[in-house]
Amino acid sequence: EERYDRGLEKSRTGFGARLNRFLANFRHVDEDFFDDLEDLMIESDVGYDMAMKLSDSLQEEVKLQNAKSKQEVSNVIIEKMVSLYEEAGNGENNEINYAKSGPTVIMFVGVNGAGKTTTIGKLAARYKRQGKKVLLAAADTFRAGAVEQLDVWAKRDGVDIVTGPENGDPAAVVFDGVKKAKAENYDFLLVDTAGRLQNKVNLMNELAKMKRILSREIPDAPHEVLLVLDATTGQNALTQAKMFKESTDVTGIVLTKLDGTARGGIVLAIRNELHLPVKLVGLGEHVDDLADFDASEFVYGLFK
Ligand code: GDP
Repeated sequence: EERYDRGLEKSRTGFGARLNRFLANFRHVDEDFFDDLEDLMIESDVGYDMAMKLSDSLQEEVKLQNAKSKQEVSNVIIEKMVSLYEEAGNGENNEINYAKSGPTVIMFVGVNGAGKTTTIGKLAARYKRQGKKVLLAAADTFRAGAVEQLDVWAKRDGVDIVTGPENGDPAAVVFDGVKKAKAENYDFLLVDTAGRLQNKVNLMNELAKMKRILSREIPDAPHEVLLVLDATTGQNALTQAKMFKESTDVTGIVLTKLDGTARGGIVLAIRNELHLPVKLVGLGEHVDDLADFDASEFVYGLFK
């Protein structure tokens, strides 16, 4: 809770403070008010499309509720941000989808540097704390140091890891991982994958191969394919996300480095353009800096 607060400090002092400053100068709702609000939203990475949608639905709602005071208008803004976030999805679950029985398999995809390895390290620590048996599969065999980095996390967390040779076949690591997870009754198999975007066809084939191997051993695996995105890269993160979404069936988003951006509006843009739930957020480099995402908590947090 406290870490969540601290992790959102920049969003709050950036996006949130900008909104608060804007509302502090509030006199009455007119066309200028909505124009300025649209600019503010765009500057905060909400994205053009979402900013317009927000503005339109705010104008409607302000009229409908006959909101006049600063407090009334602020409440409408908060409500609309939360409800637009929710409407942009398909009412899907914000929570991780767990296996009904046997190991829950979660694949992590995303470009190098997005925070895949770190997120796996944090999530493994969380499950381990809950008394679960966790196995990591270091299938990012292409990035120099990726396997070692994941191994450091495994040791720190006190969880097991399956690795292969550098530049080896990532699918072979996945194969060893899923065999072991099944045979030795692990609760979780967390799979780190390579984030090479240079070639979409290769990426697509590689991810498809991994999924095939997983589902051959565990029919409903992978239970999640989480796309890890760096919030500080703003609209770039969205471009990457689209590419991954076209390459494989992504089931949710992990938005990392939310502690490092003052433009927290990216959460709304991602939701609006990808229609995928943000399942986890990264709020720092520490093992505890990972939180489940909740739209209303996030939006209310901005205005604290
Ligand atoms: P990968 O290439 O996708 O596996 O990315 P890494 O896990 O190696 O992360 C890249 C860098 O981002 C590392 O220096 C991490 O410590 C840092 N990082 C990851 N998640 C977060 C986060 O939520 N907040 C901050 N501030 N840094 C993060």
